[in-house]
Amino acid sequence: MTYTPPTPGSKIIIVGGGAFGLSTAYALSLKKYNVWVFDRNIIPSADASSTDINKCVRMDYGEDLLSMQLTMEALPHWHQWNKERNEMGLSPVFHQTGSLLLCKGNKLSDYERSSMKHVREAGYGHTIQEFQTPESIIKQFPQFKDAVNNGYRTAYLNTAAGLSSVVAIVVDGKERGWCDSSETIKHLYKKCMDHGVQFVTGSDRGAFEKFIFKNDQQEVQGIQTRDQIKHLADHVILAAGPWTASLLDFGNRLQATGQAVIQFTPPKEFVEKFKNAPVYGGDISRTGFYGFPINAEGKMKIASHSVGYVYYDSNRSDHICVPRTQVSHEKDTIPLKGLNNFRDFLNEFMPETNDWDITYSRVCWYSDTPDGKFLIAPYPNYKNLIIASGDSGHAMKFTPNIGFKIAQIVEGVESDYSRAWAWRDYKDDAMSSSDGTRNITSKPLTLGVGEARMASLDELKARK
Ligand SMILES: Cc1cc2nc3c(=O)[nH]c(=O)nc-3n(C[C@H](O)[C@H](O)[C@H](O)COP(=O)(O)OP(=O)(O)OC[C@H]3O[C@@H](n4cnc5c(N)ncnc54)[C@H](O)[C@@H]3O)c2cc1C
Repeated sequence: MTYTPPTPGSKIIIVGGGAFGLSTAYALSLKKYNVWVFDRNIIPSADASSTDINKCVRMDYGEDLLSMQLTMEALPHWHQWNKERNEMGLSPVFHQTGSLLLCKGNKLSDYERSSMKHVREAGYGHTIQEFQTPESIIKQFPQFKDAVNNGYRTAYLNTAAGLSSVVAIVVDGKERGWCDSSETIKHLYKKCMDHGVQFVTGSDRGAFEKFIFKNDQQEVQGIQTRDQIKHLADHVILAAGPWTASLLDFGNRLQATGQAVIQFTPPKEFVEKFKNAPVYGGDISRTGFYGFPINAEGKMKIASHSVGYVYYDSNRSDHICVPRTQVSHEKDTIPLKGLNNFRDFLNEFMPETNDWDITYSRVCWYSDTPDGKFLIAPYPNYKNLIIASGDSGHAMKFTPNIGFKIAQIVEGVESDYSRAWAWRDYKDDAMSSSDGTRNITSKPLTLGVGEARMASLDELKARK
């Protein structure tokens, strides 16, 4: 079926108000389309992958030059958003802390070496600081002394990188409290509303249930929400993050994969010692582990970018993986296997954490493609349906600019991005990453079963 781009003034429905959906809504609103966003939750949606205390913004992308380029394009937008926040008396959404990529042994791994090479070739060499000796890492970053002494002996710092985060709500110049969800998403949500985007949210009226079709079945006529109301549109964009794969047939192109995330609330002495720490990777392409500075609320997040977990809803007969989150399973923590992996890694990398309880844990979901590249393209069976998903766990950093690329695809404009993110076939559905950060050597375990049963609150306590 040949895709037909919208004409000026067309009504466009976007299903999903996360990073992809809102960024697209904003970009399309600047082009004077009539844009409507539907979300099954109030935005920011509590269990969306965009909703967290922080995410890494990096240009270090190994061999994935397009994503490196996209980060370089995103950075001025992040700084612009910080300016806007400042004018509104709000604290920044982007924190340029730099990112320190440590590796085990005496040689950087392929991912770090190719990242540095390409960052330099792209003219950002001034942002790279390569450490020649283990002692020089400790000198500049004494926070990582144990890691270095335990074998993480090589590293480089990229000073342009940092994190987007949930930050203090500042009113009248004073910190008044903390938000539970992503300020980045809130900032963009407000920008969308200021530009006339219409929102329909909530578990009935905002929740996509099915598409409605024109009689010839070649054209989507709109969507029906869970409250059985039909909403007509000229075009529909499906941007439901990790839920996307469960809403339409994607074959082996998309899969919801859960990743474990933990937080500590470190003691005061550590907070002092860890201040000014950058985002860090602990030999990420081999271990999958990376972490963040302690936020202003005293929380320190560590996450895993690895094979992850899958989950099947017993009410579905189609054997499609769906996200299982704390919204539907409020007592969920993280799988025991994931917990043990964190503890084993941290025992070497940051041994003081052995004495700390894990104060928060969660499984957060990727919409994975087998090759780690996004899937942003017309759905081939219909002439007016676009898919904007397949984030593969690395799209938050592009929140300010990915919508402009998606809008081009909606308008039928070809580019390197549209070609990289096109609808494509896979022989093998084994997950990988486009940049080499995800070293996957096994199949994902099923959440809640065997070694992947949820850890108890007792098991989250300090490893004594
Ligand atoms: C553990 C973890 C760590 C990550 N770390 C990083 C990082 O450091 N750096 C980085 O750049 N990226 C990171 N990411 C990836 C980033 O969070 C995602 O790429 C990004 O959030 C994807 O946005 P999205 O809009 O596709 O999905 P989401 O943010 O999940 O949004 C999907 C939206 O769709 C809505 N929805 C779902 N079903 C329906 C329905 N039926 N009807 C209506 N609405 C619906 C949901 O409520 C939600 O609001 C991480 C992700 C995870 C899980």
